[in-house]
Amino acid sequence: MQGRGAAGAGGSEVVDADRAAWEQRSVVRVVPPVEPRKLAKVPFVELADGRLQGVVSSGSDIERVYVSSITAGTHALSCSTNNNRPCGALHGYACKHIRMLADEAVLQYGMDRVARYLRVEVAEHGDLINSLNRLVERTPAAVVFSRFLRHLAYLEVPESTEPLAELHWFPAMGAVR
Ligand SMILES: [Zn+2]
Repeated sequence: MQGRGAAGAGGSEVVDADRAAWEQRSVVRVVPPVEPRKLAKVPFVELADGRLQGVVSSGSDIERVYVSSITAGTHALSCSTNNNRPCGALHGYACKHIRMLADEAVLQYGMDRVARYLRVEVAEHGDLINSLNRLVERTPAAVVFSRFLRHLAYLEVPESTEPLAELHWFPAMGAVR
């Protein structure tokens, strides 16, 4: 594995274009990075919605970006293009987009904060990605929807005072801890 920071690829115009595009989205919050980041490669990274998520430029096609995420707790990996096509490189291990996202998140927020957010144990000087469970969630929308249907099925479960763990999903939508 090569250390990071080897190829400080240029392309400052790309950075500006990406930035302009992303600044139009109101959800972007600007947090000063712990260390300088490669904005041209990963124009957007955030810890939000229970995920480390962000946008990663395609190495080959300047028009294409990948939307990548790692879910906190489960460590489910997801990567697709901005057109919602699943990333072909995501097979049971992180694709380079997710790796880049993770690297940039560590630069942006620092390892401690990212690891705490994702609930992952990273050994000292360890690698974030290698510390994750390798669970791939290729189509988050479909997964979420089928889970939703399963949760709906619980509405037909006979009444009980015992909590159904799965139904915690519902209050969690409204309550922010
Ligand atoms: Zn990918």
